[in-house]
Amino acid sequence: MVRAVVGANWGDEGKGKITDMLGQESDIIVRFQGGANAGHTIVNDYGKFALHTLPSGVFYNHTTSIIGNGVALNIPVLFKEIKEIVDRGVPMPKILVSDRAQMVMPYHILFDEYEEERLAGKSFGSTKSGIAPFYSDKYAKIGFQVNELFDEDALREKIERVIVQKNILLEHLYHKPLLSADEIFNTMMEYREMVAPYVCDVSAFLYDAIKEDKNILLEGQLGSLKDPDHGIYPMVTSSSTLAAYGAIGAGIPPYEIKQIITVCKAYSSAVGAGAFVSEIFGEEADELRRRGGDGGEYGATTGRPRRMGWFDCVASKYGCRIQGTTDVAFTVLDVLGYLEEIPVCVGYEIDGVVTKDFPTTGKLEKAKPVLEVLPGWNCDIRGIKTYGELPENCRKYIEFVEEQIGFPITMISNGPGRNDIIYRNK
Ligand code: GDP
Repeated sequence: MVRAVVGANWGDEGKGKITDMLGQESDIIVRFQGGANAGHTIVNDYGKFALHTLPSGVFYNHTTSIIGNGVALNIPVLFKEIKEIVDRGVPMPKILVSDRAQMVMPYHILFDEYEEERLAGKSFGSTKSGIAPFYSDKYAKIGFQVNELFDEDALREKIERVIVQKNILLEHLYHKPLLSADEIFNTMMEYREMVAPYVCDVSAFLYDAIKEDKNILLEGQLGSLKDPDHGIYPMVTSSSTLAAYGAIGAGIPPYEIKQIITVCKAYSSAVGAGAFVSEIFGEEADELRRRGGDGGEYGATTGRPRRMGWFDCVASKYGCRIQGTTDVAFTVLDVLGYLEEIPVCVGYEIDGVVTKDFPTTGKLEKAKPVLEVLPGWNCDIRGIKTYGELPENCRKYIEFVEEQIGFPITMISNGPGRNDIIYRNK
């Protein structure tokens, strides 16, 4: 069976923890989109890890971890991550890299930095991992697939061709040093040596695995609101964050994805610029940020403080719908235990009209939150194992959110650990 774990919002919903947890019963875990720009934080028996490129299954002996063709593959980052986990005592994971995955080239990272520098204050808040230049080149058909590393003559010829245009931009737009084909070629040869043992025809591998009835987990990065088509364009990422894209970015039939687990956090957080209707500020936000997640709401890759807000039913309802949600995993609920009362955003007021439908970006920027205040439960719910044992107000909060978003909350996460989970039969 194929399942997907994806985010409903801006990312950082706790997908890493849910994937790690579901990884126990998975044979194969696949990353199908995105790059090293976002990260998952995972707490397990080996310690606390921030993964950017590796699938969250790397901590299990029984799983195969796959980098699908849809990923922006940064080879040195991938190998640095493998080394880091192995150095900390994790057994060497089984890893396969799609022969069709495209590689983040050293100049993609440079172009990301130069463009941010050029835009100065008007930037999009890129993590400077080269992701936007990477996907631009992919769709401009001047990207490099992993299999191209194995044909040296064709590779050298293509590098020479591709950098002509890059060098014009470097010279005239950015006023930066030019690229050398020799240097890039040599770097590619180093990449080839690193990646060669793992290269695989992933879609054929997965086709066989599906026939053998293996459990396959597709691991999404970021969330619905960052999708380039359905998210808050242009404050989005460059590859689709939706479960449907799992079929493309892994190379499997779309109808094989039987369960779509959409992760929603019990409050909101976002990074980077852009509309964030339920955002809160000042001491109220600082306190939630300090208490949030596992050790505060700061970016796993960048360490940047995240923007904080109350749970947004409008955005989450939309985020779940566009994912094709079968199950909602409601996470980080334990963090709200300090509040006497918990505001929830139940509607947007736009030009004097209240709506529960998530609008396009221009309207979203004008939206003001309509808040409803629910009573808190004011205690620590960590360690609770069954739904019935949760305080009544906590259950009411969950049921209120479920009613508002219209998708079943079947898992509740009440702590960062693998076993901090409450299953709810629906
Ligand atoms: P991801 O990118 O969606 O995986 O999200 P993050 O890596 O930002 O994960 C959110 C943070 O919350 C991480 O530090 C997790 O360890 C932590 N976390 C996940 N689930 C829970 C939970 O239920 N309670 C608490 N307190 N922390 C959690």
